[in-house]
Amino acid sequence: MNAQPATRRKFSDPDTEHIFGRGYADIIDRYDWDETLALVDNATPADVARVIAKATRSDNVLTPEDFAVLISEAAAPRIEQMAALSRRFTSERFGKTISMYIPMYVGNACTNKCVYCGFNHDNDFKRVILSLEQVEEECKAIRKLAPFENLLIVAGEYPSLCGVDYLEKVLHTCRPYFHNLTLEVQPMRSADYERLTHAGLNGVVCFQETYHRESYKKYHPHGMKSHFDWRLNGYDRMGEAGVHKIGLGALLGLEDWRGDVVMMARHLRYLQKKYWKSRFSVNFPRMRPSESGFQPKTVISDRQLAQLTFAFRLFDHDCDISYSTRESSSYRDNMATLGVTSMSAGSRTEPGGYSHAHEQLEQFEICDARTPLEVEQAITRLGYQPVYKDWDAIFD
Ligand code: SF4
Repeated sequence: MNAQPATRRKFSDPDTEHIFGRGYADIIDRYDWDETLALVDNATPADVARVIAKATRSDNVLTPEDFAVLISEAAAPRIEQMAALSRRFTSERFGKTISMYIPMYVGNACTNKCVYCGFNHDNDFKRVILSLEQVEEECKAIRKLAPFENLLIVAGEYPSLCGVDYLEKVLHTCRPYFHNLTLEVQPMRSADYERLTHAGLNGVVCFQETYHRESYKKYHPHGMKSHFDWRLNGYDRMGEAGVHKIGLGALLGLEDWRGDVVMMARHLRYLQKKYWKSRFSVNFPRMRPSESGFQPKTVISDRQLAQLTFAFRLFDHDCDISYSTRESSSYRDNMATLGVTSMSAGSRTEPGGYSHAHEQLEQFEICDARTPLEVEQAITRLGYQPVYKDWDAIFD
């Protein structure tokens, strides 16, 4: 059995609760990993027909267990029907639009040793944390590329240099240039998230990487990120702090991706019920080669990723589904009308990469290297509208 371990630290323990907090980590171990995979493996064509019929009824909301059926092999022959439903539900909720965003890496220093990442603490290369002047240069360079208003600020996890004080200043620096600021950095305390919302923070993206507790330890052997519960409870801390938009994701390839996405679907439902004022987004990054030479444990094919995307849209009509430039231009174009609602474009994944193009280590390989204008034109040719600004604090 590959179950989550039965004996583990209890959050009722006051010695640890103040460190790791409370939240979904108290709940996840109710779900057995193998039983979760069995939901997918044992799905039959009759189960698929039942779930698709349920999805088409307006009064029915799919459960994570229904979602598991839709990502199964048994559902693969129904992929075109799922694509059509996904397109319909997406356009009913979002219209024919793709929200455009761009990442800005402000630092590549990291105290963690994630075995699959080029920014791993043990990798020997020049570490950079941008000064506020450099951050502003990046803002100006991005604004010259295209009228982006959604900025994703990314950094490795280095709390002493890239902690809440620094991030607060970065947000203040970026605010005059962008309306919507999202952070993808180390998980923080609830009070820190709250403080950053006053500095203009709108959203937080965090990748749980894998929901498999034992494998998580193997892939994250060192640093604060090695604490599975601290990371998992981070989403609760975002919700408690009133973060407007919370982004979830698993890195597909670390574990059996089917187990991870069903676990993520359960996590999403939990968060939606508890933090109903927040909006949510999901991301399905597939593993790409990094300098560490890590090879994914499982590979998800283009067709499987498409089926997963459609299944997720059937499972949740409101969730933003984001595709980054990790995916190829042709694949992103094919998926743009079928369930995806936001895309990055023109991305550089090294700090300072927009104002000073130089040869630095990138966190992952970019597959879609088109300019923002080229992506915009491709979306327009598909009959969709690329949207640079769809949010304003005044509407919150
Ligand atoms: S994945 Fe993130 S936390 Fe892990 S080594 Fe890379 S930058 Fe650091």
